[in-house]
Amino acid sequence: MIRFGLPVLVLTLAVPLLAACGRSAPSPSSAPVTLAIVNARVWTGDPERPSAEAVAVAGDRIVAVGSSDEIRGLVSASTVARPTDLVDAGGQFLVPGFIDSHVHFLDGGQRLASVQLRDAKTRDQFVARIAAFAKTVPAGTWITGGDWDHQLWGGELPRREWIDAVTPDHPVWVNRLDGHMALANSAALRATGVTRAAQNVSGGEIVRDAGGDLTGLLKDNAMDLVAAKMPPPTAEMQDRALDAAMRYVAEQGVTSVHHMGTWDELEVLARAHKAGRLRTRIYAAVPLNTWQRLADTVKARTYGPEGRGDAWLRIGALKGFVDGSLGSHTAAFAEPFTDAPEDRGFFVNTPEDLYTWINGADTAGLQVAVHAIGDRANSTLLDIFERVTNANGLRDRRFRVEHAQHLTAEDVLRFRNLHIIPSMQPYHAIDDGRWAEQVIGPERAKLTYAFRALLDADVSVAFGSDWFVAPPTPIEGIYAAVTRRTLDDKRPDGWVPEQKITVEDALMAYTMGGAFASFEESQKGVIAPGMLADLAMIDKDLRAIPAAEIRTAKVTRTFVGGETMYRRE
Ligand SMILES: [Zn+2]
Repeated sequence: MIRFGLPVLVLTLAVPLLAACGRSAPSPSSAPVTLAIVNARVWTGDPERPSAEAVAVAGDRIVAVGSSDEIRGLVSASTVARPTDLVDAGGQFLVPGFIDSHVHFLDGGQRLASVQLRDAKTRDQFVARIAAFAKTVPAGTWITGGDWDHQLWGGELPRREWIDAVTPDHPVWVNRLDGHMALANSAALRATGVTRAAQNVSGGEIVRDAGGDLTGLLKDNAMDLVAAKMPPPTAEMQDRALDAAMRYVAEQGVTSVHHMGTWDELEVLARAHKAGRLRTRIYAAVPLNTWQRLADTVKARTYGPEGRGDAWLRIGALKGFVDGSLGSHTAAFAEPFTDAPEDRGFFVNTPEDLYTWINGADTAGLQVAVHAIGDRANSTLLDIFERVTNANGLRDRRFRVEHAQHLTAEDVLRFRNLHIIPSMQPYHAIDDGRWAEQVIGPERAKLTYAFRALLDADVSVAFGSDWFVAPPTPIEGIYAAVTRRTLDDKRPDGWVPEQKITVEDALMAYTMGGAFASFEESQKGVIAPGMLADLAMIDKDLRAIPAAEIRTAKVTRTFVGGETMYRRE
């Protein structure tokens, strides 16, 4: 049977009624079908109607889900000035548009046009790519981004001497792919006034050689010695980065992102929204320690009548940090690293500061999302969330732990008991899985990216990529969560295979899981009448192919608000 929110005859009324519970009801005018997709294998994500063949859209909303015949009938019955765009999917797979719950959108966009070091496999390649890129930009231009991975050439950390000779006139500031350490060349250190006399920074590390000289590598908070003094990108560069980012994620079937960013970046997004340029829906988080400014901004109603934006650009979330990353040995663990017995990582903020900020934000009714990687970081953060919940009483606050990478069994249960959302990045599991056991040993690895354990505990999980840190490609993310095959293919049966999940579990985390994590589950995340018409079409039914082939599937078309934002040629 065709599923309508209300009977067919009152279809034109169905949209406003169904949307009335949401934040932005569509216009109450009649709703002719503007787009119909038929002959698809639809995974709706809606437990009341898990599968279908066809979808009808009016304007930016889904109005009907049913069989191809039913939806075709609806199109011909629709007396419209504007003809319906009828799309025959040819049996392809149709899912709710992917929601990437953790991106650094503008950084990602900028990197699309910068030096590419992610797959530099040797020191020579690393140097050669920087040298080649330097030739393409005028002297004096900063070379940033890169996303190198020293594990690919055996683990030796890069030094400024590697690249000084090929970049005498370009300040270089290229980061490891996790963003938790970066290499400055000598020109960059000179330009920012960082010398051998530089004082240690709490929550960070200045890497020195045996003689005490700077190697050019800075970790976590120490990265600000260079980053804070770099010339900021121009408005034009930021606009271009945003456009590139939106184009790129649309190619991956992503229709919404949760952007972990800054106030300056929020301005870039607001400018694009005002100009009608947004093609991706964005939930924009700002730094946790600026919670008061966000509370004031919401109150001032700068962003719409409710103060929190609309279906394209929403605010109301804050993003903070407990610790660093595993790959940089800056994640905070209860026990020392297996390969560095003196070291158990560190916090980049004190628990007291975190409590003060989180409590302030929570009191102001804002959502809090905090980065925690190591088991000690996660436990400490859950303690703080628990304390704030007890202090401020029960409400639908949806605290989020970003990454939730290494957990104890007790903490898995605390996610459920405290209704906390783990916002996780499955691609990291098959990336870090190549070397993580050298760093933490096999025992702690058992609850690393513990997707299965969290779902079994009835926790609502949101998936994302952490782009620029990893590619913003949900299909690869689903492949990662389902197979856990490390990128080097050395673990064909999966790294920590007991934490594998099904394709549908992973789809859910990339759709409804993300919608729930931004309080938008009444607007998106499933294919059902009344929902925003955000859809991704994929050439293969991910449920029906061998798991190892999932990553070969291609997004062929992406719709946001009923509009085609990407179409594969
Ligand atoms: Zn991140």
